[in-house]
Amino acid sequence: MLYNKIKAEKFFRYFFVKKINSKKKIINKKMTTPKLKIHSIESFGTHDGPGIRMVFFLQGCKFKCLYCHNPDTIPMEGGHEYEIEDLVRRAINMKGYFGEKGGVTVSGGEPLIQSKALIPLFKRLKEEGIHTNIDTNGRVLNEHTKVLLDEYADLVMLDIKHFDEEWHKKLTGMSRDYSFRFAEYRERSQKPMWLRYVLVPGWSDQENFLHALGQHFKDYKTIEKIEIQPYHKLGIHKWETMGWEYQLKGVPENTPEQLAKAEAIFKQYFKQVKVN
Ligand code: SF4
Repeated sequence: MLYNKIKAEKFFRYFFVKKINSKKKIINKKMTTPKLKIHSIESFGTHDGPGIRMVFFLQGCKFKCLYCHNPDTIPMEGGHEYEIEDLVRRAINMKGYFGEKGGVTVSGGEPLIQSKALIPLFKRLKEEGIHTNIDTNGRVLNEHTKVLLDEYADLVMLDIKHFDEEWHKKLTGMSRDYSFRFAEYRERSQKPMWLRYVLVPGWSDQENFLHALGQHFKDYKTIEKIEIQPYHKLGIHKWETMGWEYQLKGVPENTPEQLAKAEAIFKQYFKQVKVN
């Protein structure tokens, strides 16, 4: 009898303690706030979307563009983890400087690699009335990205690296299809998008491909403008620091004529064209 009682107590303890522990685990899981891996933060960005912006540069990118001027953002390793609420607090502190147009931009690296953790960040920023913008190469279009695009991203700045598949692969190591599919999805969400295009002499300034790009996107209703980004060599020393060979060493920066020519071509297709 006594033996049976002890057995019953053991049984009771086993199941209840186990149940309590697993409940604790769930609660802890719920209480774990998502974090973002960030390379660096800029408080007064003026080139990453409308107005004055706080820019979070996220760590990691699946492209490896030959001209990347922040190659240290490419590896997934590195960066620092930030709590979402910490980032929201920083943005709130800057709100007075944002004015009507400014806000927060997530850039990188490729921010959408961390799209799941970006949802609570953007949700909180929207609750605080802060404008949100994603600067992306369009590589990641998963279920989390779609939530961001449909519900929380006021603006998307999509980098188009090249119209031609072969040249795109040479420049980035990836297919152009990701970015083009991404553009299609944003178009369906009917929310604002800007295109960005780095003009690399001899690599991405072929007139026929600039026209083809214009033709492809000219009927998109969501594209408010296209920005031409001149090619520059500011990141070369970072490539050397990382022990990577910089393959565009012999490529000169753009002449004003090259920029003007690309601008004139894009003006045939887009409402607004800006050379950054
Ligand atoms: S997409 Fe941007 S961050 Fe990634 S490699 Fe290209 S330039 Fe660098």
